[in-house]
Amino acid sequence: MSLKPPPLRDDCFALPAGVDWTPVDVALAELDARLHPVKAVENVALSVAVGRVLASDIKALRSNPPLPNSAVDGYGFAFAALGEGDQLLPLVKGRAAAGLRFEGRVPEGHAIRILTGAALPDGVDTVILEEDVNASQQAVAFRAGVKPNANTRKAGEDVVKGDICLQAGKRLGAADLALAAAVGHGVLPVYERLKVGVLSTGDEIVEPGQAAQDGQIFDANRVMLLSLLEQMGFDAVNLGLVRDDREVLRARLNSAEVDVIITSGGASAGDEDHVSALLRDTGSLNEWRIAIKPGRPLALGVWNGTPVFGLPGNPVAALVCLLVFARPALGKLAGNGWLEPQGFSVPAGFSKRKKAGRREYLRARMRQGRVEVFASEGSGRISGLSWAEGLVVLPDEAADIAEGDAVTFLPFSSFI
Ligand code: AMP
Ligand code: MG
Repeated sequence: MSLKPPPLRDDCFALPAGVDWTPVDVALAELDARLHPVKAVENVALSVAVGRVLASDIKALRSNPPLPNSAVDGYGFAFAALGEGDQLLPLVKGRAAAGLRFEGRVPEGHAIRILTGAALPDGVDTVILEEDVNASQQAVAFRAGVKPNANTRKAGEDVVKGDICLQAGKRLGAADLALAAAVGHGVLPVYERLKVGVLSTGDEIVEPGQAAQDGQIFDANRVMLLSLLEQMGFDAVNLGLVRDDREVLRARLNSAEVDVIITSGGASAGDEDHVSALLRDTGSLNEWRIAIKPGRPLALGVWNGTPVFGLPGNPVAALVCLLVFARPALGKLAGNGWLEPQGFSVPAGFSKRKKAGRREYLRARMRQGRVEVFASEGSGRISGLSWAEGLVVLPDEAADIAEGDAVTFLPFSSFI
């Protein structure tokens, strides 16, 4: 176990002075610049490493493949000893199969039965596919035209021993673990999982599935945020629901044993907006007025050294702010570097006009090669979130989009 890096500074969320509505890219660049990994490093077995973030560059302990070998089932021989025209080569006794090296040497002008993955025996540099020969117990016959080194793989043609094959900061997927295994690793150094607590606020909010009075609404945000954070590879911790009471909220924040706290609701400047009020008391509150729709307000602060992301209460805005701002910021804290979600330029299946001055995210999905957007932009429309499979992002500038125009689609998976 290594030492845990120092916590964030209380002023890490300060915004540049004098800016009125902060453009999304400026806000993101600020977050990127101020955040750093906050977790210690541990070694874990490959079997439990999927989704974890690599803490150092990984070098190949051996080459892949380790020895020159055959790519097919067939017959191996030395190319240089072949004469002109069609070939008839006597077979040596025995065979070369994967796992066990053929010990002897194959004399020039002879061939040996060889199976896929078998190391090339001494005296063999070329293999002919078994479908391309006539073979008996004693000999193989085949046509002219075989290329030197055909159907063989060179040692290290994939990865050379000592080369860096996986880079620090990578979130390990299944194929990365295959690569680590192939080059000789059984355990990998990864960052401890970032613990992200999720808290809902509001006197009107009740637990899903319980009895609700008129005027109450079920807590839709918490299960959504917790589920997304788990999918993103974080250790999502349920911090429950807090009514609009400053002291109860203070106690809940104090008792949270997490690396980051994400709240929804109560992040504006109203009387019952206790998340922002408490953060303001610490002196660390920054109400980020970001030029984004949906999304305002976003309250960022530090509570006893723990960064707090105060997301808007509206579910659509909460989701967009989580994906656009919190996701890359959490990735940075987790050692994952800054995530740039990869979008696709696709033809619009809708028309829309927007004014300059803020970036817009629309609930969207791909159908028949075009991107459709949800009929309503209302930020309480949870059915539209469920309908959507991603977001269309419209630029900060004014835009007049006609059907068929290219727009950027960000699948939800690009944030995971
Ligand atoms: P607030 O920012 O607290 O004023 O909340 C803005 C809107 O989001 C209000 O209509 C709230 O009822 C709604 N809201 C807040 N928290 C949640 C939640 N956890 N689930 C669903 N809706 C919420
Ligand atoms: Mg509220």
